[in-house]
Amino acid sequence: MKGIVYHGQEDFRVEDVADPKIQDEHDAVVRIEKTAICGSDLHLWHGDPLPITGFTLGHEFGGVVEEVGSAVGRFQKGDRVVVSCTAGCGQCSFCHRHLYSGCQKVAAAGAFTNVFGNPLLPGGQAEGARVPFADTNLFRVPESLGLEQALFLTDILPTGTMGAELAEVGFGDTVVVFGCGPVGTFAQRASQIRGAAMVIAVDLHEGRLERAKERGCIPLNPAKEDLRERVLELTHGEGADAAIEAIGVPSLVRDAIDVVRTGGRVSVIGVITADEVPLPIMSGLMAKNLTFRAGLVMPQNHVQSLMPLIEQGRLDPTEIITHRMPLADGVAGYEVFAAREEDVMKVVLTP
Ligand SMILES: [Zn+2]
Ligand SMILES: [Zn+2]
Repeated sequence: MKGIVYHGQEDFRVEDVADPKIQDEHDAVVRIEKTAICGSDLHLWHGDPLPITGFTLGHEFGGVVEEVGSAVGRFQKGDRVVVSCTAGCGQCSFCHRHLYSGCQKVAAAGAFTNVFGNPLLPGGQAEGARVPFADTNLFRVPESLGLEQALFLTDILPTGTMGAELAEVGFGDTVVVFGCGPVGTFAQRASQIRGAAMVIAVDLHEGRLERAKERGCIPLNPAKEDLRERVLELTHGEGADAAIEAIGVPSLVRDAIDVVRTGGRVSVIGVITADEVPLPIMSGLMAKNLTFRAGLVMPQNHVQSLMPLIEQGRLDPTEIITHRMPLADGVAGYEVFAAREEDVMKVVLTP
């Protein structure tokens, strides 16, 4: 079958890869019908070359179950599914505590090894994939929904939702969301659904800010107006109740701490690849009595509440799709996405 394979920085290729096979009784093999390129895939595109090449990329995908192992109980051949980007076993003590990202079995080789699209867990920018522990990591797509409507349950919709959850966004809150990309969009939507009175959307891209305004957010371009002053002006001089960093830029973590009020909550869900980021502990976290949280998405915890919102039309995740291409043109999809050409937000590939 075909897949998009990592060969190094800016060197991804569509080529023949091994067909996925059942290797364990808990596995399923999924024939992929839709797969997306994620902002976090761009870290590999731009980033330092990895020592290992030749693995299939991609962690946002769905399709039809083709085969299941003998221990899979909840799914069978023919089921339409989307796949959690972070795989858990559902059995270890962390999975039992709903901390699937730290699964002691699937992530035993180290952090992130249970995110699809690495040498140990080949990804879903391909015609098919093996999904370990299918009962934990597959989500059934209701008949009323198209696969595209459910596709972002694999990662970015739960990620944005988790941003609002970690920042404890509630009824009547004022929330600052850093980023109007796919994750930022969903953090804004989740904040609105959780009852935020005002969502201030921060971005440098005017086109993205315009779309945020259409979603009912207040756009704020920090290149054009002073971020902190504008937030204070909008919050009667107090600062926001909560802030969500949804891009992954170290300096924005400090900005997020800066714009919340005393007793505010800050969450970081943008992927920050720098391991150490300076934080204002005394003047920020302590002096303002802040709650500061960060985390890696675990779609298993959010799909059950998000699916009905999509079914009821209160959320339309397809709003972020700007480009649709065949998988065969996937490298061109990466190039468009990486260059931020054509106002690109999300590229969806069809194998
Ligand atoms: Zn992703
Ligand atoms: Zn586990």
